[in-house]
Amino acid sequence: MRYADVILPLPLANSYTYRIPDELESLVTPGCRVMVYFGKRRCYTALVWEVHDRAPQAEQTVKELYALVDASPVVRPIQLRFWQWIASYYICRLGDVYKAAIPSAQGFQPKRQLYVRLAGDYRQEERLLALLDGLKRAKKQEQLLLRFLDLTHALEPGSVAEMPRKALLEQCDASAAVLEGLLRRGVLEVYEKEIERPRVSKEWQEIAMKPLSEAQAQAFAEIQTVFQEKAVCLFQGVTSSGKTEIYAHLIAEELRQGRQVLYLLPEIALTTQIMERLGHYFGDRLLVYHSKFSDTERAEVWNRLLQQEEPVVVLGVRSSLFLPFSKLGLIIVDEEQETSYKQQDPAPRYHARNAAIVLANMHGGKTLLGSATPSIDSYFNATTGKYGLVTLTTRYGDCRMPEILTVNTRELKRKKIMKDTLFSPLLVEKMQRALTQGEQVILFQNRRGFAPMVECRQCGWVPHCVNCDVSLTYHKAYRTLTCHYCGYTIGFPTRCPDCDSEELRLQGFGTEQVEEEVARLFPAVKVDRLDLDTARTRTAYERIITDFERGKTQILIGTQMLSKGLDFGRVSVVGILSADSLMNYPDFRAHERAFQLMVQVSGRAGRREQPGVVVLQTSQPDHPLIGMVQRFAYKEMVRMQLAERSQFRYPPYYRLIVVVLRGKQESVLQEMARLYADKLRSRLGDRVLGPVTPPIHRIQTLYLRQVVIKVEIAAGITPLRTFLEEVQQSMQAEPAFRSLLLHYDVDPV
Ligand code: ADP
Ligand code: ZN
Ligand code: ZN
Repeated sequence: MRYADVILPLPLANSYTYRIPDELESLVTPGCRVMVYFGKRRCYTALVWEVHDRAPQAEQTVKELYALVDASPVVRPIQLRFWQWIASYYICRLGDVYKAAIPSAQGFQPKRQLYVRLAGDYRQEERLLALLDGLKRAKKQEQLLLRFLDLTHALEPGSVAEMPRKALLEQCDASAAVLEGLLRRGVLEVYEKEIERPRVSKEWQEIAMKPLSEAQAQAFAEIQTVFQEKAVCLFQGVTSSGKTEIYAHLIAEELRQGRQVLYLLPEIALTTQIMERLGHYFGDRLLVYHSKFSDTERAEVWNRLLQQEEPVVVLGVRSSLFLPFSKLGLIIVDEEQETSYKQQDPAPRYHARNAAIVLANMHGGKTLLGSATPSIDSYFNATTGKYGLVTLTTRYGDCRMPEILTVNTRELKRKKIMKDTLFSPLLVEKMQRALTQGEQVILFQNRRGFAPMVECRQCGWVPHCVNCDVSLTYHKAYRTLTCHYCGYTIGFPTRCPDCDSEELRLQGFGTEQVEEEVARLFPAVKVDRLDLDTARTRTAYERIITDFERGKTQILIGTQMLSKGLDFGRVSVVGILSADSLMNYPDFRAHERAFQLMVQVSGRAGRREQPGVVVLQTSQPDHPLIGMVQRFAYKEMVRMQLAERSQFRYPPYYRLIVVVLRGKQESVLQEMARLYADKLRSRLGDRVLGPVTPPIHRIQTLYLRQVVIKVEIAAGITPLRTFLEEVQQSMQAEPAFRSLLLHYDVDPV
């Protein structure tokens, strides 16, 4: 008797055992999908994890699997190992990983297809011509046959004279009945054929690659040296130093060696710009994998990697880690500090940068982490010897770093110079000058909408989301108030529902308000806005970028969406409207992020020839972080942050695991969370904090509590995971606990 352990697309136990029916015995192999019944007669597509002959204990209750979906595996063994690692490190189920790895609608192309060819006898020209003579009265058949001969070059010496049946019918606009006629005459025959995947060309346009500058060539060589000793290299190159060109040379080298490359970018940085640049170099060896692609487009990439092992480069977002690579030589994680590399919801809550390192290792490949402002975590690993470190401190073409001018908005407000305006006189002046000279401007405000908060002047009432514990953001264009967590939307109230006052005032500001004021200050100038509201689709996003690139728009206003991976040639002024909103954020990484974001948007100024200027508006000009941004003092920022982190037991010194508990009834949740935290504390002591009520304590009608665990990095995660799962199981004995949802967030960002 043979059994298959399968993974179900459900967050339950890791695997379930089914009996393999005799007729499928030789066909069911790990990595194939099968149909199985589970629970109350529901049928699922499961993935075969292991095939064995170990009879399970409750033999008689074991069901038989119902059907085989794939004749050959759609997942490689190395991928299954990777899934296993994700499930175990991020404390989730294999089913969660399976669901994330293979989108449900994944349609894998059959490997076999129906083909039409000339039947043996008719491969001689005379017989064929004789037959054509006889076909004069069957016009349609004659036409189809002639077209077939034409399309397949059947009469040329050495021709195979075959083509897919489907393509033939489509291209000749012929019905199946006409083809049937020819088949009956015996001139054509249909057969099943293993289909050939489009092969990539052997040569690619290496010629198109730009030669590296001296500084770039040195960085390139240093990276290669690091890789002789270490699996991971952190590459810190200032904005516009030409990191992308260096990546291209590294990719070319891997392809030449016959290996594959994965080039990871955070979602928002994956633009046509970068696709075009790489497409130009690598032609059909470049595959793009975007989460906004349709399932069909994604399946296409999957199929190509599954069915051929050619050296290709995949440009993709974090989910491309799950593609069926066969021999990854290199993973490049660009903008490695980006927090969007971490998946938030649903599970698996993996960090693509860290997972990339593990995946590359499994393939015996290397990982290159690239950034102008690396995450403190990676920088720490690089300076303590775990990773190699290569730096590039000059911009390409020796273009100077932009000058950063800070403006004290508190002072200007006190002097009534900045009254009812978001723009300081200095920023207006710099913008004016740039625009008259035909240059462009970028304005950065990391908040979308018009105003983050509305408040009643009389009684202080603030409209809140009914599902979540957050205030609603005012969107002026639609006159609505919207929740940025769940999308809950109401019309803008005319009066305060509490005191009936009509005086509702706006607090703070977002990109929409910036746009409105720009229109007032520069009525003749073309302005665009790039944020989650305007760039909902890939096309909308690309249009905004392209218009700016081509100079159709002069001013681009945006959130952090515009800080990444874009290369604009004519931007001479960048305005950071409020540094305060970035710095005053209740998170231990707030300052690290504020620094990264400000340096990155600043980097948009003055690429290529012109040096640029950045106007940085803040009410805390003396804050040490502002000075560090001004001097691009990255190391200084790291030193300051590391001191705090070691004192308060944060990463990179400690590993954080946040246990999130959710429930409909707040009192039950609170009680259970307390009990749970106490159980953890009995073993982990003061490494356990909480339960705490997170800043946003209710999302989509569920209340939230968090228990934070800080453990020494050296402790490793396996014993801890075992303990956490034990505690969870023992808690589940409590009836009240069963109504709660619990998940783990390992290495939260
Ligand atoms: P980064 O990724 O470090 O921000 P890019 O790779 O986008 O920098 O390079 C900045 C600009 O300099 C781009 O316009 C790029 O085409 C140009 N550039 C970089 N390296 C070279 C090179 N070796 N030859 C020609 N142009 C280059
Ligand atoms: Zn009121
Ligand atoms: Zn909400």
